[in-house]
Formats: sequence, structure tokens, C-alpha cells
Amino acid sequence: MDRTQILACYDWVDGVCFRHPGKGEVPTAKVGLVPLLGSNKHEVRACADCVIALGDMKRESSSRSAGKCQATE
Ligand SMILES: [Zn+2]
Repeated sequence: MDRTQILACYDWVDGVCFRHPGKGEVPTAKVGLVPLLGSNKHEVRACADCVIALGDMKRESSSRSAGKCQATE
């Protein structure tokens, strides 16, 4: 999947990226929930760059855990 296809999987709403709060309100997608004290859950939202970065990390860890990681050098 390319970047555009990955981003199209998410619903985009203006919000604050959890890694880039200094950017202020930017288009963000929900990437998870963080449990808070009590029964509240806090939505974790990420900007496009972070959504792509998180997707890359997930793909890497899933290929490692499946034992299909092959050395390319
Ligand atoms: Zn971000």
C-alpha cells in the first residue's frame, strides 16, 4: 500500500497530534485509546506523518514476529 491508500483508511478530523502538540490543530486520525484513571479513555490522535510512521513500525514488528525477516545484505 502506498501512503495515499494508507491515509484513506482513516477518518480525518482536525485535532492535536500526540507527537506534535506544538503544531496545534491539524488533520488527525484516531490511532488508539489510552486508558486513564477510572473508566475514561483518552483518544490518541496522530497527524498524517505519524500515521505513516506508526504503520511502518507495525509492519516491521509483525514481520519480525512472524519470523519472515530476511537479511538483505
Ligand atoms: Zn504528528
